[in-house]
Amino acid sequence: MSQLRQILKSTLDGLLPRSLFLTQGRELRSESALGDASGPAISLTFDDGPHPEHTPALLDELDAAGIEATFFIVGERAKCHPGLVRRIAEAGHEIGNHTWTHSEPRQTSTSQFLGELQRTRAFLEDLTGSPCGIVRPPKGELSPGKLFGLLKTKQPIVLWNQDTKDYSMMGPAEMGCWVTQYSPRHGDIVLMHDLHPHAATGIALMRKLYAYRDVQFRKVSDWLPGDTGVKSFNPKPLATVWAEPRINANGR
Ligand SMILES: [Zn+2]
Repeated sequence: MSQLRQILKSTLDGLLPRSLFLTQGRELRSESALGDASGPAISLTFDDGPHPEHTPALLDELDAAGIEATFFIVGERAKCHPGLVRRIAEAGHEIGNHTWTHSEPRQTSTSQFLGELQRTRAFLEDLTGSPCGIVRPPKGELSPGKLFGLLKTKQPIVLWNQDTKDYSMMGPAEMGCWVTQYSPRHGDIVLMHDLHPHAATGIALMRKLYAYRDVQFRKVSDWLPGDTGVKSFNPKPLATVWAEPRINANGR
């Protein structure tokens, strides 16, 4: 993402209400409400699926790690793989809206964009029986018209502040590098894709690395105030699920 877009995102993040625009999480409650949790809380997000091979592999790794995450799903892909969408929801993950076709933002009108979101939301809610009110626009790109249209319908827009760029990775070693070099910071929203194979590799490594031992993983709506969240705020320390013995950042 260009520096200019990053600045624009930060500016909007400061100007718009947190209930409607999120690029990274900020604490909603006092530290005392966090109980014994001491590590940073981050949100993992997976875009562009479901994929018949990569999504099940990722779900297996998330389950083994005890991580609940957020999936931004493409409607037409959900229609092709409805069982996978149900499996995502039944595993306790959160489902967000990533339009029906994932069309190129600059070639998509505002009315097409909003229409796709409406169609996708209706389909996903019918399929899972769960609310699907959060939106991530393809590539994180929004024109003023699309932004205004979303704000009018009060659908929270969720972007990210940590991009793995897994879509351009050539092999698992690159994901290994990203996971070992990344230092989780409280409130981070991490972007990955289950349309590609590397997210599962990343989760498998996080489960083994000492640096992730005390990290809490939250669904993105846990950072949203009021009743915009799909689920109630539920910090979940995960140190207990980490594999023993611990291994260091080099994977040994
Ligand atoms: Zn996407």
